[in-house]
Amino acid sequence: MDFDLSAEHQMIRDMCRDFTRDVIIPRAEAIEKTGEYPYDIMDQMAELGMMGIPISEVYGGSGGDWVGMHLCIEEISKGEPTLGALLDVTTSVVAQERAVFGTDAQKSKWLTPIAKCEKIGAFGLTEPDAGSDAKSIRTRSALQDGEWVINGTKQFITNIGLDNASLIIIAAVTKKALQGPGRISTFIVPKDAPGFCLGKRYEKIGWHGSATHEVIFEDCRIPEENLLGDPAKGFAQHLSVLETGRISIAAIAVGAAQACLNESIRYATERVQFGRPIAAFQAIQFKLADMAVAIELARNQYLKAAWLKDQGRRHTFEATTAKLFASEMLEKAASDAVQIHGGYGYMAEYPVSRFYKGAKVLQIVEGTSEVMRTLISRELALG
Ligand SMILES: Cc1cc2nc3c(=O)[nH]c(=O)nc-3n(C[C@H](O)[C@H](O)[C@H](O)COP(=O)(O)OP(=O)(O)OC[C@H]3O[C@@H](n4cnc5c(N)ncnc54)[C@H](O)[C@@H]3O)c2cc1C
Repeated sequence: MDFDLSAEHQMIRDMCRDFTRDVIIPRAEAIEKTGEYPYDIMDQMAELGMMGIPISEVYGGSGGDWVGMHLCIEEISKGEPTLGALLDVTTSVVAQERAVFGTDAQKSKWLTPIAKCEKIGAFGLTEPDAGSDAKSIRTRSALQDGEWVINGTKQFITNIGLDNASLIIIAAVTKKALQGPGRISTFIVPKDAPGFCLGKRYEKIGWHGSATHEVIFEDCRIPEENLLGDPAKGFAQHLSVLETGRISIAAIAVGAAQACLNESIRYATERVQFGRPIAAFQAIQFKLADMAVAIELARNQYLKAAWLKDQGRRHTFEATTAKLFASEMLEKAASDAVQIHGGYGYMAEYPVSRFYKGAKVLQIVEGTSEVMRTLISRELALG
């Protein structure tokens, strides 16, 4: 076994770490406060090639791997987890779905601009009446005169509200079964397609730097060739890329938790009470020690999942356990970080308050903790 990062992986990690320190961290508080999307930071991430790390050079990517991509996501999330989420949805989910299931023509047209970071992508599965039970989606797509006509609503959609988002990959029912969910297929829907309506922007507890919108399709028409992959396997296609998304969620959680630990160590060594830095109190030390243990284990698990993916090996158990463990670990780490900061930890100018507000969402997106436990139980052949 070799736990050392390769020279290339170290280079990606260090580049992203420096970028986060110099560019993202100084802006993070303002992004959360104003809810203004940091397009200039996205442009700089694009220039550094962050969205295309694991995508083939033929389609404008860097030809790297998923370990490198996730090291990048962890580092970026130390500054602003919403930018980690931007990378997750754009690269791990949307770009990958096109890279794996798209035709050469679809890849040239739709993958290259995203791998080159000229455009951002979105992923549409969730609907008002279909969340964890994703197979029960109601959005419908029917072929009419050489075009797919789509009707339905997707909700809680990340990225699509960004000005530089160009498309959404959606799942829609294409054939109704007498019983059961029918046939689900996936489609590439450009934002400028007739009948595409960007719905409301959601007001969230935290994560204000992430665009979350409703999307409505009203007789939305797209060309026949925008069907992605096998029309009978659209649901399986969507789920397969979500597995990578779960590794990305774990990497975001590890980055955010590491930031909480770093901030807490700094604060605990500076803050003096009863004549001593609070870091001298065992109650504080144990919180910090527990955070360090949990972060290390979560990091090892997401890296193992990403490495297995790079080897082309099955990684359902590793991706699911990484997502579950890391997201629940972050909630505790962020809470302890606020506790260590005392009253200051509840103030917006202290980064730990932002990580605390944003921690919960990672237990919900891309499959809830309950869904993760169900999948893990299945891996244990429990039914
Ligand atoms: C900020 C944000 C961004 C998002 N971005 C996207 C996106 O880009 N694209 C997209 O498609 N979706 C997105 N989502 C949606 C997200 O994936 C769903 O919210 C999530 O899958 C849960 O679905 P739901 O909200 O409908 O909850 P429900 O499925 O209604 O679940 C409610 C509760 O019931 C539990 N539950 C449900 N079924 C079971 C069961 N069988 N056993 C035990 N417990 C169960 C759940 O775990 C949960 O605790 C986003 C959500 C948020 C909050």
